[in-house]
Amino acid sequence: MIAHSQNGQGMTSERTRERLVRQLRDEGIRDERVLQVMSQVPRHIFVDEALASRAYENTALPIGRSQTISQPYIVARMTEALLEGENLDKVLEVGTGSGYQTAVLAPLVRRIYTVERIATLLEQAKQRFRLLKLRNIHPKHSDGGLGLPEFSPFDGIIVTAAPEGIPRTLVEQLRPGGRMILPIGQGDVQALVKVTRTARGYDTEMLEPVRFVPLLGGTET
Ligand code: SAH
Repeated sequence: MIAHSQNGQGMTSERTRERLVRQLRDEGIRDERVLQVMSQVPRHIFVDEALASRAYENTALPIGRSQTISQPYIVARMTEALLEGENLDKVLEVGTGSGYQTAVLAPLVRRIYTVERIATLLEQAKQRFRLLKLRNIHPKHSDGGLGLPEFSPFDGIIVTAAPEGIPRTLVEQLRPGGRMILPIGQGDVQALVKVTRTARGYDTEMLEPVRFVPLLGGTET
C-alpha cells in the first residue's frame, strides 16, 4: 500500500494514520481487526487532492455531488457493529460514495457488494479499489433502496445514507440472525441503528446520534 507518501503536513501518511487510530481507540473503538485495517487503508486517496492533507483528521469531508466521505470514527463504529467480532461471508453496502467504507470492510469479510446511485462517484471508487488491489468488492450502479435481491440473503448490510425509516426491502434481504447497521431520520435528527433479523421479524437497537446525507431514490449519471 501507499505507506510512505507525504501528506500536506509533511508527515508520512502512515504516521498520521497511526495518530488517527490512537484517537479511535480513545473514542472507544475496541475491535483490533478494525483498528488494524484503518491503520493501513490510505484515506487520502479517497478524497480530492486538494483535501488530501486533511484526510487523517477525524472529520467528514466533501467528495463532490453534495456527498461526503464519512468521519473515520463513524466508519470504525459501523464496521465494528456490523462484524461483532464474527467473520461475515456476504455483505451489502448501500452508498459507496468515495469507497472508503468499502475498502475498510473488504479485508474483513469474504465478499462485499456495494451500490451507489451516482455513476461518476462509483467510477472513481472503482479506480481506487483497483489501485488497492481489492478484489472481493462487487460494485453496482443502482438504487440501493432496492437492495440486491439477486445476491441475497446477506449476512450483513451497511447503509451509509439515511432513510426516514427502516427499509423493509433491505431487512428482507438479511438472513435470519443477520445484521443491518444504518442511520435513520432526517436532517440533524438521526440515530445510528442496529437491526437484527429474527425468525419472525426484526429487533432494533439504537447506537448513537449521527448525521448522514439522505438516502435518495433512483439513479444519476
Ligand atoms: N460510505 C461512503 C459515504 C458516502 S455518502 C464513504 O465513506 O465515502 C452516501 C452515499 O450514498 C452518497 O454517495 C450517495 O450518492 C449515496 N446514496 C444515497 N442514496 C442512495 C441510494 N438509494 N442508493 C445508492 N446510493 C445512494
